[in-house]
Amino acid sequence: MNIHEYQAKSILQSYGVNIQRGIVADTPGKAVSAAKKLHQETGINWWVVKAQIHAGGRGKGGGVKLAKNLVEVEELAKQILGMQLVTHQTGPEGKIVHKVLITEDVYYPGESEPKEFYISILLDRSTSCNVVMASTEGGMDIEEVAANTPEKIIKEWIDPGQGLRPYQARKIAYKLGLEGVVAREMSRFIHSLYTAYISSDASLFEINPVLKTSDNKILAVDAKVNLDDNALYRHPELADMRDITEEDPLELEAGEAGLNYVKLDGNVGCMVNGAGLAMATMDIIKLSGGEPANFLDVGGGANAKTVEAGFRIILKDPNVKAILINVFGGIVRCDRVAQGVVEAYKNIGNIDIPIIVRLQGTNADEGAKIINDSGLQVKSAVLLKDAAALVKETLA
Ligand code: GDP
Ligand code: MN
Repeated sequence: MNIHEYQAKSILQSYGVNIQRGIVADTPGKAVSAAKKLHQETGINWWVVKAQIHAGGRGKGGGVKLAKNLVEVEELAKQILGMQLVTHQTGPEGKIVHKVLITEDVYYPGESEPKEFYISILLDRSTSCNVVMASTEGGMDIEEVAANTPEKIIKEWIDPGQGLRPYQARKIAYKLGLEGVVAREMSRFIHSLYTAYISSDASLFEINPVLKTSDNKILAVDAKVNLDDNALYRHPELADMRDITEEDPLELEAGEAGLNYVKLDGNVGCMVNGAGLAMATMDIIKLSGGEPANFLDVGGGANAKTVEAGFRIILKDPNVKAILINVFGGIVRCDRVAQGVVEAYKNIGNIDIPIIVRLQGTNADEGAKIINDSGLQVKSAVLLKDAAALVKETLA
């Protein structure tokens, strides 16, 4: 599960990680009150207005702006709230901003220059370890750094059984070119960050930038946190951070129906049981000249109800020009699925796009008979090859 920057920072703070302080607001008026409150608490006179959406690259997209007085706070909040923020992670349609985070400005001048770093912690499945990645190239797009100057990315693998050892945090700080008090601050920062990561059952923490302020404090300016869905039951307070307005409405509906659905941009909807077969089906669609409109795994226990729910979701996508149902009958019997397809077809009514059904495995013949006898505009195929040919024919 993805969460917003302000929520991620509240998790960090609760584990003692230093953060750029801020207060979230959903109207320009509340943004001004937030700025005043921050001024009273910290004495700061400059603020940053930050769009809260589930995507990075907000700064470049115009969603992070500095305000030097309260009038500017209000103006920027007006400008950013409700805007359709487009970043390299949102796609061209962008995301509507419903909340802004008003923060203290932490790039104030002082005895030394502020310096941005990059730190992330994530699960490395290939080594069964967590890995801390760090770089002196903070504030930059880390994918670019990894591609052009991979030597600038420091990696330290953490055995989850042993946890982060003090020498490992010191080593990262040292490799970042820090020494003395600042190195100690950084190593403390990394320790608290690792504790927060483990304790919240996260699968990703990405802090970009981590800032060394002009008075040598280390703090998180940004925070991207991904929580492991499978562990959310252990953290009801984190589960409550879910923001469904950030999620694709069709994916949301599919989740509620117990379907594993991912929306894509193509024109052939598909409904399949099993993730592997779903991937193969998407390949077949592509080979026959179409583009998959979605990934949809109805799971091993598909019945008439799940088939109908899947149908409804696929049909809500206006790009869909054909639907391919590809089910391998194992525990699920093909005649049941066929019955489900026919019922769904009748219940939904007015389905005016071609449906190609391929049923194989247990009771495949009975399934094909039900489809063929139904009198509906459903085409049935036995071989995947035939199904692909039908898709091609349909799109022609
Ligand atoms: P992102 O663009 O979505 O990654 O959002 P960030 O939270 O990382 O902010 C983007 C950029 O805004 C940062 O890289 C900083 O350069 C800048 N920024 C963030 N906070 C401050 C601040 O307190 N003062 C100033 N002057 N710039 C800031
Ligand atoms: Mn950032």
